[in-house]
Amino acid sequence: MTRPDHDLVVVGGGPAGLSTALFAAHRDPELRRRMVVLEKEPYPREKPCAGGLAGRADRALASIGVTVDVPSVWATGMSVALPEGGFFRRDPRGRRIGRVVRRVEFDHALAEQARARGIAVRDGVKVLRIARDEGGVTLETSAGTLRTRALVGADGVGSLVRKELAPGVATWRAQVLEVDTEPVDSDLPRDLWHFHVVDPDFVGYLWDFPTIVDGRPLVCRGAYHLMLPGTRADGEDLAARLGRRLAELGLDLGRCKKKRYAERGFSPFEPVAGPRVLLVGEAAGVDPITGEGIAQAILHGALAGPWLADRLRTGDLGFEGFPAVLARAGVGIDHRVRHELAHRFFGPSRVHYERALLAIPDTITLGVQYFGGLSVDKALLARVGLAIVRQGFAPRRPRDPAHGGTHA
Ligand SMILES: Cc1cc2nc3c(=O)[nH]c(=O)nc-3n(C[C@H](O)[C@H](O)[C@H](O)COP(=O)(O)OP(=O)(O)OC[C@H]3O[C@@H](n4cnc5c(N)ncnc54)[C@H](O)[C@@H]3O)c2cc1C
Repeated sequence: MTRPDHDLVVVGGGPAGLSTALFAAHRDPELRRRMVVLEKEPYPREKPCAGGLAGRADRALASIGVTVDVPSVWATGMSVALPEGGFFRRDPRGRRIGRVVRRVEFDHALAEQARARGIAVRDGVKVLRIARDEGGVTLETSAGTLRTRALVGADGVGSLVRKELAPGVATWRAQVLEVDTEPVDSDLPRDLWHFHVVDPDFVGYLWDFPTIVDGRPLVCRGAYHLMLPGTRADGEDLAARLGRRLAELGLDLGRCKKKRYAERGFSPFEPVAGPRVLLVGEAAGVDPITGEGIAQAILHGALAGPWLADRLRTGDLGFEGFPAVLARAGVGIDHRVRHELAHRFFGPSRVHYERALLAIPDTITLGVQYFGGLSVDKALLARVGLAIVRQGFAPRRPRDPAHGGTHA
């Protein structure tokens, strides 16, 4: 076999791949000469996604001097509608918790940031085949053959790299359908993201996220359906469900451009690393309970990039240690907690979790602060902790109208 011509090849130029490259290059600037990101689509490329970007991901990027300046709708809070009631919560100090971006713009701008830092990002190059051997990894691509010492699979939900690493069906799969519509009178203020979780038989939720498309203030609305292990994709007619919700809002799904896509949830029991190969972002799996994946992808890259740079320097390319590193890191803990919550929330005790949320709406205030990467209010944390210990799952209306309230 020929000697590798690259130290690191990253397959996939979405948030996971680009942030892995950016953070790796930040740790070891020399690596830029021997690293390439391969993206099969030419930028700007579409990715079906509501574009709800958590502030904690922007903060992680900012920690290495990367700011992604694209049209955004800023959020300060979240709203939840449950079968027995609904409420919204903002950060009590009115801080921004995230923004809605258009992926076609965000990913392109992030790729340009990587290029501006001297990272080779080759778009329009598709990886077709992967073969590992003791001396490296060979990639056949639409633009020729590459050989690398190490490979990152950041190639999203249908990851080719994952299939090479660990063929098999994912435990958590989800299907998602979204549309962009005009705003309607009953929409909430545009700084709130709304989660509609009103049907106890639906394993998923519907959402309304204010967005901006070519300068027009629109609302991205969609339906997320988690297929519990053992269930089938065709068990749920997502278009009918979204159609009914749009009709309630006076909108017609038939007049909207529908975007349908799959998602893969993280499971701690599925491999994320093997000799010379590491998976990041949705290739490894994202949040199964909500399908949130942009921040997970960026934070996963922020962890994997420097770790890989160090391994490439020492030549220790087994990568067996990465799952333990991931498990201890914030993003890995986040993954495991959400994996556990998905089982619990969508299980037989669902009604208790819903009632607990209604009884202690400040759980969402804390969630909002965590989501935004903001300092968490310690007094609030203590109050919520105490309430969780005390509460008997009795629904109670939330108070504090300044930063939250109930839905009419
Ligand atoms: C409808 C929908 C709405 C969503 N809304 C949100 C939201 O509001 N907030 C949120 O946080 N998450 C959301 N998500 C999830 C989020 O979009 C993903 O989790 C996120 O994009 C994962 O990032 P990634 O970089 O891992 O993968 P991707 O963004 O999918 O990037 C993978 C890249 O790899 C490229 N690629 C694939 N195969 C190859 C190959 N063989 N060769 C070269 N390149 C290849 C692809 O073209 C793609 O650009 C949503 C998902 C869906 C489907």
